[in-house]
Amino acid sequence: MHSRCKSCLYCHVTQYVSLGDPPPVKTWKRPLLFVAGIALTVSTVMALQFAWERAGATFFAAITTIVMGLGLLGVAISFRGCDVCVARYLGKTL
Ligand SMILES: [Zn+2]
Repeated sequence: MHSRCKSCLYCHVTQYVSLGDPPPVKTWKRPLLFVAGIALTVSTVMALQFAWERAGATFFAAITTIVMGLGLLGVAISFRGCDVCVARYLGKTL
């Protein structure tokens, strides 16, 4: 059961996000990651709409898209990632 937990889909990703020892695993981190991911995604969608109406905002739109990817990844990890992934991903942000 432990090897299956270790090879979860997002462990490889979160290892790059947060190198070294994983931060302490806490149960409240999962709902927090979900809420933070949703908030990040929603705000980047609004920022993209803002950028879309302006010419020459390509750089801003590109940055926003990357941040949106981070937010969506956070939501995905809060759904399907293991506890270590959740702690690692949030540990970098907090
Ligand atoms: Zn994992």
